[in-house]
Amino acid sequence: MATKKTPPRPAPAPPKCGPCNGTGEVARTVRVGRNRRTVGQQAGICLACFGTGEATD
Ligand SMILES: [Zn+2]
Repeated sequence: MATKKTPPRPAPAPPKCGPCNGTGEVARTVRVGRNRRTVGQQAGICLACFGTGEATD
């Protein structure tokens, strides 16, 4: 009886983090002044995955 070789399973892709879409960074709106005038956006670390881009559970 021959033994069946089971093909190695491909590693499952890590789930993408939602807020940053797997990039690990999220755009943050920069506001200044009392009127909270928007002056632009800058990239900030995603607090949901701490920059890894992978969803944690
Ligand atoms: Zn994230």
